[in-house]
Amino acid sequence: MKQIEAGDIFRKPIPGKFFPVSLGGTFVLIGKGFILVILLSCILVAQVYSDSIQSTKISEDVIVISGGGGNITAVRTYEGILIVDSFASPQEAREARTIIEGHFPGSEIKYVINTHHHADHIWGNQVFDDAVIIGHANIEKNLMRDYAETLKEYEGYDDKIGALEIKLKEGKADKSGDIEKTEKDIARWKRIKAVFDELIPTPPDVRIACDSSLKLGAKTFEFLCFGTAHTDNDLVVLDRDDGLLIMGDLLFYRKCYIMGPHSDTKHWIAVLDKLIDNSSRYKHVIPSHGPARGVGVSVLEEQRDYLRALWDAVVAARQKGLTKNQAINEINLDKYKDWLDYDRIGLDIEACWIQMDRTAPNYEFPVLKGPYLGQKPPGMTPELFAPGIIVEDGTPFNAVFSPCGHEFYFVTDADGNETLDIMWMRRVNDMWTEPEVAPFNSNYYDLNLCLSPDGYRMFFRSKRPIPGTSESPKDRHYMWCTVRTDGSWSEPQVVEYAGYETVTASYQSITSDGTLYFSSPGSVGELDVHRSKFINGTYSKPENLGPSINTKYIEGDLFIAPDGRLIIVSCWDRPDNNGDSDLYISFRKSDGTWTKLRNMGAPINSKASENCPMLSPDGRYFFFLSYDPVKDKRSTYWVDARVIEELKPEEIRLKD
Ligand SMILES: [Zn+2]
Repeated sequence: MKQIEAGDIFRKPIPGKFFPVSLGGTFVLIGKGFILVILLSCILVAQVYSDSIQSTKISEDVIVISGGGGNITAVRTYEGILIVDSFASPQEAREARTIIEGHFPGSEIKYVINTHHHADHIWGNQVFDDAVIIGHANIEKNLMRDYAETLKEYEGYDDKIGALEIKLKEGKADKSGDIEKTEKDIARWKRIKAVFDELIPTPPDVRIACDSSLKLGAKTFEFLCFGTAHTDNDLVVLDRDDGLLIMGDLLFYRKCYIMGPHSDTKHWIAVLDKLIDNSSRYKHVIPSHGPARGVGVSVLEEQRDYLRALWDAVVAARQKGLTKNQAINEINLDKYKDWLDYDRIGLDIEACWIQMDRTAPNYEFPVLKGPYLGQKPPGMTPELFAPGIIVEDGTPFNAVFSPCGHEFYFVTDADGNETLDIMWMRRVNDMWTEPEVAPFNSNYYDLNLCLSPDGYRMFFRSKRPIPGTSESPKDRHYMWCTVRTDGSWSEPQVVEYAGYETVTASYQSITSDGTLYFSSPGSVGELDVHRSKFINGTYSKPENLGPSINTKYIEGDLFIAPDGRLIIVSCWDRPDNNGDSDLYISFRKSDGTWTKLRNMGAPINSKASENCPMLSPDGRYFFFLSYDPVKDKRSTYWVDARVIEELKPEEIRLKD
């Protein structure tokens, strides 16, 4: 379930009310690519001003204004008007505003929703700065970057206009030799100049990162986030009462050349599939560009089929060993020859190609067979675990194998959406599947996995809100638990403690008898290791492990052996640290007390920061994360677990 992200999103008070909704959302992978930026911004600026703006009445309460910047949808309620998108320039937005206010006299524009950051949807925002502007949390950085890049591209337009005007006065044309074209160019440059002279990039006041809803008048609007498809900040608006699905650039009307430099075509297909599956919820579908009336769900299917045909053709071209340019020349999708911008279909082919390069340089996921992702086991010196396999852009960390050895879970920031995601891979017929988003992942920060030794319960830390509370998830990590169901995992529940407030937990580990060990704010230092026993189905009040383990410094990530006889903790800032944090180890004595936590030393600890300790369920390998702050690089290492044996103090060894 996706709920509204509150907290850091509000910059000015928001009238109306938000409610969580539960229309499932999805995920997926994106990296970096800049090649198409220039092309894209050229197109955007070409669209900044249109010759004609028209309005189409969809129903008594809904009109769509169409201009050079695509479509603005305006919905009237008795409390005011909500509009979706704002065109590509303040000039055009002003015209749209006049039309909307003229059509709904006496009604005020209360909300502007931006479907994503592209100029033709957002550069008119400043005209509506008396309304509350809502958009995805990722809009602002994209908007400001694109604005700066586009501005740079058009630097010196005054000089260009001046030079062309002098030529015209002399009766000469520009390089083309065509006077009429030169006149048109001057007019175009002047329009662009007028836009830049007036434009103030205006990001949304309210930023959301997951499905949420807004009540205005008698109508409820759902804002659906799906992860990266056309951009990493796509937002689809569903006007529930009018059965209106306002798609932004997730739907163009029979048009090619629709991808941006950061589009994720594969995920875009999945998003459209999902929307098609839910089509009983809407009567009208509004594309970002093209006709707004009479467009039904079948247009979603057409767009999905186009993207799929494109993707499949590029996959086939790569399998044939073609180069990118050969693919652009050879791929034949003339089924779409009547679509707008078919002559630019090569740019969509290129975008798919770049995405494949970005997310998987070899494209074909390698064959991984056998235990531990088929990796050659390490000796007594730590080695990188599965280099180049589970990492492309983001770094996996906090890795967990299931006791049966047939599942592998890890946390990654691969999708670049600034939250962390839990991924999983499965070993089917001895072959490992490609990483997928785990079923219990959310659009909030999810991290710090720990699996019970019986493999039945998965604990993790998350900033997701607790259902039924309006509390902001900002800065609050709670511990959550999900239970294995047939082939998947249950809806996660927050872990509660008997007669004790919910604990803000950091990192946890669990023994076979169900005792949870975790790091949380403590009485000895900033973060201390605590434990909570599992008694009669609830967790007891957490107890501090005391001064053998905890100090005035930070005790953070930890691992407890299933039998509770060994604990490994990442400690920060201790005087004997090598780097910001090191891994320390302690053994439980027969009287239940702990040996003094001791630095594990080289070769485990280095100048980098060591964290995320984990012993494999079979006890054979020790995994940990090493973070190099200079290179800003995280690496997961593994080493033969006998290194731990060597760290046992004499008193423990003798008793073994
Ligand atoms: Zn767009």
